[in-house]
Amino acid sequence: MGKNVVILAGGVGGARMARGFDALADVSTTVVVNVGDDDTIHGLNVSPDLDTVVYTLAGLEGPEGWGRANETWAAHEELGRLGLDNSFRLGDRDLALNIFRTLRLREGVPLSKVTAEIATAFGLTTSVLPVTDDPIRTKLLTDEWIDFQTYFVFRRHRDRVNDVRFDGLDQATPAPGVLEAISGSDLVVVAPSNPILSVRPIIETPGLRDALDAVKVRVGVSPLIGGKALKGPAGDILESLGYESNHHGVVASYEGLLTDLVIDESEEETQISGTRIHRADILIGDKESATRLAKEIISWMD
Ligand code: GDP
Ligand code: CA
Repeated sequence: MGKNVVILAGGVGGARMARGFDALADVSTTVVVNVGDDDTIHGLNVSPDLDTVVYTLAGLEGPEGWGRANETWAAHEELGRLGLDNSFRLGDRDLALNIFRTLRLREGVPLSKVTAEIATAFGLTTSVLPVTDDPIRTKLLTDEWIDFQTYFVFRRHRDRVNDVRFDGLDQATPAPGVLEAISGSDLVVVAPSNPILSVRPIIETPGLRDALDAVKVRVGVSPLIGGKALKGPAGDILESLGYESNHHGVVASYEGLLTDLVIDESEEETQISGTRIHRADILIGDKESATRLAKEIISWMD
């Protein structure tokens, strides 16, 4: 039987999980993506998580999971020569996409519509939706409040994060199609994205949580193995915000959202009250392993 699946996704971890469900013929997938990392770089509207999802679903992602494969860097080098801070790296192809998005947004087209245009241009059939068309900006309290990209790219996420806030979130409304996709879904999958930086701004967008809670099965895939993120600061941030850097912390940070959590098969069995725990191979760096995990998750529903 065909299933409708909604995936909540940040960038690389989200895109990898989305690619697995996208590959399943009898599953119709909608990916709802974080926009808290969006920013203005060289005057352009960048949406790094949306682009990572689109590039990955198109099979065109860069070697580290973000940006483009076979990228060239002529514009990046020239911007550096002109003395601009080019530490947020935009390759030539990526730059073209960001120019397109910026132009369309300036014409007054909402982000969800621009994203649909981009997805069509990349031949996608899976729908990719920003969680909201309204601007949300993630800020982190280190020694002082700083922007997401300052924290993540310019300072390479080395600062201790004492608090996180999402400017604009209280006033945001879900993008067209988001609530409809959730209420029409048989399964919500919380991708192995950064629980605080990528997933929280999605589930805290007004209206989302009630819609999500009405779906019977809500499966999270852990971004941690052995208490550590596979990449990036997910574990450290959980810890500095008072959660454990392990599966208990992941589940607690979602505040009752998950009915199920998938942890890696290499880990010991563990019990978390109120949440079913499954063990599986959660290393999903390539399409085949992501597809296998997606199939397995679907099979638990039958
Ligand atoms: P970002 O927005 O690009 O930083 O990416 P996300 O927030 O979507 O995902 C970052 C998280 O993905 C990190 O915490 C990683 O631990 C996790 N991650 C990356 N690759 C994998 C994988 O193959 N399996 C699992 N389980 N987690 C992964
Ligand atoms: Ca991100």
